[in-house]
Amino acid sequence: MNYQIQRGTYDAYGDDAMNMKKIEETLSAIALTYGYVPIHIPTYEQTELFTRSVGESSDIVNKEMFSFVDKGGRNISLRPEMTAGVMRAIVTNKLYAQDLPLKFFYCGNVFRYERPQAGRYREFTQFGVECVGVSSYYLDAEAIMLGYNSLLMLGFPKVILKINTIGDSLSRENYKAALKEYFKPYKNTMCEDCQRRYDTNVLRILDCKSEEDQKIIANAPKIENYLTDSAKEYFQKIIKILDECQIEYEIDPNLVRGLDYYSQVVFEYHFVSDQGVNLGALGGGGHYDNLLHDVGGPSLSSVGLAFGLERINTLLKEIDPDCYEKTTVDIFVVHMGNETIEHAFYLASSLRNEGFTVDLTYENKNIGAQLKLATRKKASFALIVGENEIKEHTYGVKNLLTQEQVNVAYEDLVDYFDEHLMEEHHEG
Ligand code: AMP
Repeated sequence: MNYQIQRGTYDAYGDDAMNMKKIEETLSAIALTYGYVPIHIPTYEQTELFTRSVGESSDIVNKEMFSFVDKGGRNISLRPEMTAGVMRAIVTNKLYAQDLPLKFFYCGNVFRYERPQAGRYREFTQFGVECVGVSSYYLDAEAIMLGYNSLLMLGFPKVILKINTIGDSLSRENYKAALKEYFKPYKNTMCEDCQRRYDTNVLRILDCKSEEDQKIIANAPKIENYLTDSAKEYFQKIIKILDECQIEYEIDPNLVRGLDYYSQVVFEYHFVSDQGVNLGALGGGGHYDNLLHDVGGPSLSSVGLAFGLERINTLLKEIDPDCYEKTTVDIFVVHMGNETIEHAFYLASSLRNEGFTVDLTYENKNIGAQLKLATRKKASFALIVGENEIKEHTYGVKNLLTQEQVNVAYEDLVDYFDEHLMEEHHEG
């Protein structure tokens, strides 16, 4: 039987797997500096959690969920995003009773039954943050800056930050009424999705990618004329902070984002490579007021954002194929077979306990083959273990870059590698 990989999924190995891990580590380290702490949530939840929160008018719930009935007859869905699950976890564990805001970051796989294409998978990885419980334009600005600075720190030379406000609920009510009025005569000529959006959430029409519909959308009323004074002021305060911090942005009046729960500020990060590769948004997020309440908790305001790690990885490689350090080995232990293997095994194990990256082979290969293997594995040093070396407690240590070899006594090995690997890293 020849098993095929499922459409829209991928295997990551070698540099790609390593890079994805590095990206997650870098993003986690940055989130920690902003006071966010990790949260881990389940991969699947009750379907209703997503229909209630992400919203039935959104494509990801309406068309793209992986849903099934489990053996106990429950309606279950694989998470199409993580925010709803984080809200559910906050309610289940009454975390809202702690000091607010709660600041969580997460990284995990999410599932959307989309048409696969460049930068679009059916199972992909999101890294995101949620700041829950305090409404403050400072926290919104902080989240926007966290995302922006993270991308710069990952190695993007420039980030296009698109930002918009969709106002408070009164602004949106008035704006939606104006949009309905405007789109009414065009409704039947627009794409099927827009016809549905007209009834479920007219705002989402602004997000339509169809060229024909875009011509109609171009002349639609703009949100800025429907904002309440307080929504206008709220947005201006965020913009002022971005200006002060010299964060570049573009105000995009048609940016509404695909999920139903946003209010006030919404934003997206984009990047186009010199070769013109554009995979769509690298990440995006926004402020939301009612989500926690919608999933059974108190009414608390929040702001969150999520990145797609696959898109980040693909574009970073496009910018600089050597952007990440490769998997390397500090020490490759070379033995002479037979009883020297056992000694090599314990020596490798004690050096690993000292924090070195150590590898070796347990096959009977001659020294030349083992040294070649060490070089292919990009090892810095070969540590040679023969019968004499075992008797004399002194080993041959070969620098695989310069090919110089010295003898080092067992008790000096750790100091020797500490000192020389440090030099290597500095030079490298
Ligand atoms: P969203 O939850 O739709 O705002 O998506 C947040 C980020 O996840 C996007 O900016 C993308 O980087 C990434 N993303 C969304 N959908 C996909 C997909 N089907 N495949 C890969 N990445 C995706």
